[in-house]
Amino acid sequence: MSAIYITTPIYYPNAPPHIGHAYTTVFADVIARYNRLMGRKVFFMTGNDEHGLKIQRVAEKEGIPPKDFVDKMAGVYRQYWQALNISYDYFIRTTDSYHEKVVSESFKRLYENGLIYKAKYAGWYCVDCERYYSPGEYIVVEDKPYCPIHNKPLEWLEEETYYFKLSEFKDYIVKLLSETNIVYPESYAREVLNRVQAEGLKDVSVARPRDRVSWGIPVPFDPEYTIYVWFDALLNYVSGIGYLTDESRFNEYWPNVNHVIGKDILWFHTVVWFSLLKALDIPPPRRVIVHSFLINKGLKIGKSAGNVIPIEFLVERYNGSDGARYVLMKLFNLDKDVEVTVDLMDSIYNSELADTYGNLVRRVGVLALKKVRGKVYRRDVDKKIEESITSLLNKYVEDMEALEVSKALSEAQELGKVLNTYVNEVKPWERPDPSKELYSLLEGIRALSIMLSPVTPRASSIISENFGFTLTSPVEFRVGQIERYNIVDAPVLFKKVQAGREKTGGQENPPGG
Ligand SMILES: [Zn+2]
Repeated sequence: MSAIYITTPIYYPNAPPHIGHAYTTVFADVIARYNRLMGRKVFFMTGNDEHGLKIQRVAEKEGIPPKDFVDKMAGVYRQYWQALNISYDYFIRTTDSYHEKVVSESFKRLYENGLIYKAKYAGWYCVDCERYYSPGEYIVVEDKPYCPIHNKPLEWLEEETYYFKLSEFKDYIVKLLSETNIVYPESYAREVLNRVQAEGLKDVSVARPRDRVSWGIPVPFDPEYTIYVWFDALLNYVSGIGYLTDESRFNEYWPNVNHVIGKDILWFHTVVWFSLLKALDIPPPRRVIVHSFLINKGLKIGKSAGNVIPIEFLVERYNGSDGARYVLMKLFNLDKDVEVTVDLMDSIYNSELADTYGNLVRRVGVLALKKVRGKVYRRDVDKKIEESITSLLNKYVEDMEALEVSKALSEAQELGKVLNTYVNEVKPWERPDPSKELYSLLEGIRALSIMLSPVTPRASSIISENFGFTLTSPVEFRVGQIERYNIVDAPVLFKKVQAGREKTGGQENPPGG
């Protein structure tokens, strides 16, 4: 069985992560946890992109060396991922010396093969993006070119620089995008393909003069230049699994690499990344999974739009990591942008986690403790319940294999509703020995806890410990497997959020970052 390698983009730590970063990272974590649950070998990597002008400037502003700044921020990011219960296997940092060596060596090889060359460049540049914008890419305000992301004037810049021969890879890229299913969902591949065919591919700058950007990896044969941060950053995906340092590890993980990215970095992670890999003689990734954005009042959530929802707000409001993860994954969508408000997240949390799941576990646990002292022996499972469990588990697996996490959560929700309805119908509290009803309900709760475990791992493990079962792979689940449930406690898993309260200023909008 081949191992699965899952990556998030590495994040630029000029500021702490917010809900947008959490959206990507929690999704990647859920995919990692699901694959582990299925018994597959997983290597899940996230990390920070630590070089470049923006970092250099933030560090200058704080009056500390850039390395001290990124060290501090690596700690900050790790804390946030811990708060969200992210189960990464490795946290990569681009200032790690082995990574720097891989970048330097790759740059040298491409130069020696004529795929990197030196030439003059002039163009419109955004300091915040650290990149040039060509006509068609920038917006025009009062006859002046503006950055489409930062909405501020671009600077005209001329410099001698090194280029990567991206133009050589046009045919290769067109072939990959049209003949493979690497990019998922497929609509994103068509989007890139159309752009490649309309605009062609131009060579891209791959270094900066050292006096402009000193915080970067030096060009190995020309110390007057530092390697552009995008080149440095992309290579994390191969350096992190041993490229040029541990061949067997690299060969184990690379064939089944799954990059999770937001659609804003689609071009870089297809056209530029596939070309760079080809230039280095590395096969393309197995899959690039692209997601859309959370938006607030029509704008992508982010620092520049000023509509950031802090991660600590989510974790505090939704009863820890499980609740925060659940609301994000219920909203998750690969294709289209999702408008998010606190009211919407509140209602998802309250109705699905507190009312349906939490309440069910609490009721059944209390009944089992009261009626049969927590010991529930195997009985025939109610036919309707058995059918629901089997069919919803099957659908769940189909959804998860297709990366439809939100849909998979709806299957779990459906099972929760079936079980709640069953409790109300059979009224176990009125029966002298409700063992048959309780056993049916517990089998349902076991299935439900397995289904939810990639998204709410903490709650699932609390239930499995308190009710006396283990979380098996969904495909190994058989109704009637458990000989005896031993319930020791009926925990309250999710306290309801009081709508309107706890909200800063009583607004429907989250507090700004
Ligand atoms: Zn910009």
